[in-house]
Amino acid sequence: MDTDYIKRYGKLPAVADAIQLKETFRENEKLQDAKEALLKMPLSSRDVEDAALRLDKFAPLIMRLFPETACMKGQIESPLVEIKSFKRNYGNNVPGRFFIKQDSELQVAGSVKARGGIYEVLKHTEDLALSAGLIDREDDYAKLASTRCREFFSRHTIQVGSTGNLGLSIGISAAALGYRTIIHMSADAKQWKKDLLRKKGAEVREYETDYLEAVKQGREDSAKSKNSYFIDDENSKDLFLGYAVAAKRLKAQLEEKGIYTDAEHPLFVYIPCGVGGAPGGITFGLKTLFDNNVHCFFTEPVRSCCMLIGMATGLHNQVSVQDFGIDGKTYADGLAVSRPSGFVGELMEPLLSGIFTISDERLDSILRDLYTSEGIYIEPSACAAFAPVVCGREQLKGYIEKHVHGQKDGITHVFWATGGSLVPECLRKELLGKAYKELGQ
Ligand SMILES: *Cc1c(COP(=O)(O)O)cnc(C)c1O
Repeated sequence: MDTDYIKRYGKLPAVADAIQLKETFRENEKLQDAKEALLKMPLSSRDVEDAALRLDKFAPLIMRLFPETACMKGQIESPLVEIKSFKRNYGNNVPGRFFIKQDSELQVAGSVKARGGIYEVLKHTEDLALSAGLIDREDDYAKLASTRCREFFSRHTIQVGSTGNLGLSIGISAAALGYRTIIHMSADAKQWKKDLLRKKGAEVREYETDYLEAVKQGREDSAKSKNSYFIDDENSKDLFLGYAVAAKRLKAQLEEKGIYTDAEHPLFVYIPCGVGGAPGGITFGLKTLFDNNVHCFFTEPVRSCCMLIGMATGLHNQVSVQDFGIDGKTYADGLAVSRPSGFVGELMEPLLSGIFTISDERLDSILRDLYTSEGIYIEPSACAAFAPVVCGREQLKGYIEKHVHGQKDGITHVFWATGGSLVPECLRKELLGKAYKELGQ
């Protein structure tokens, strides 16, 4: 706890709520015109396009390594589904339609991390293989699955620090290519995630400490060893761009449903936030496509609301939730991060509409209600996406009144379900316990 910080910032309304562990909403008063803001950024829509093209180039290799992606021709993408029954329960006075973006069903890694994590592994692989002369740019990248290439990758290491899902995404994809992979897991990481990684051939190092410490150890270990590459969740532009590709894919899915985003038909997107890379990348991508017609919100657990604290104080990664006497512990393991990415926080300053927080106690009932009403299973962290309609409804309605002029029924709400499909059946049953009983199963 840092009394100076509390003295200086503790009276800001959202920070005051955060300190008292109260659910809150902070509207970002630094939001700017999207086009102008994007012009000043170090990354552009061209970088996102480049990442999208690279993923297309790798699709034949992905299909070879992960046959479950064959039906999508090697593209890793998730469904967008309307949730009408859920809306009847939770969205009564919220104008517009509700959709869930099921990254919980993304192939290979079962979470949003399949976007950024796998992209960065592929980007690194391309760099290595090009400089070693294993491929040239015109080649079919499926060549990278050959014995010769695997032998080459086995002499290289990829490392990452993770609360679980990033480790799964990088561990599974890097091990499939033949790399030696070392995953530094924080104390929050669930046992089943560690077990699964070991089964896939990754080496798991466990820490008693939190995510930041696991990242720090990983970074240090990697710097000391030869041929080792560290994927840096806090600062990586490649991870960020991998996430950003989601925007273009979402746009196509909306249009397939006849939804064209404009001023009369704005898009509202809610994404759970840990260190910020995934929701930040997706927000960046969406802003490059829809500028002021998309309103992006992050959602965080009350006890690890690091991005809210970072953005409200403007101090980003210089402050942690512990500085404000908040313990950083949450049942939403994927979001158990105490200090936000400074790189992402700064990029989000002119782009993000706001941040909602939610108490851990609500996550299980959202999990069950979504399952009973829609038959969709997501993990507890992903349930945080629903904060705006579960505990922030009045604030959300206030925001809509203020920012959406005229007709409000044209709003499309997208709740980003960030993980779930890899949760083992026995744990699922435990979490769903009550729901199963209600359904008589
Ligand atoms: C990692 C993760 C997030 C948030 O991503 P960050 O890049 O850490 O902000 C959200 N939900 C789940 C399930 C995750 O695993």
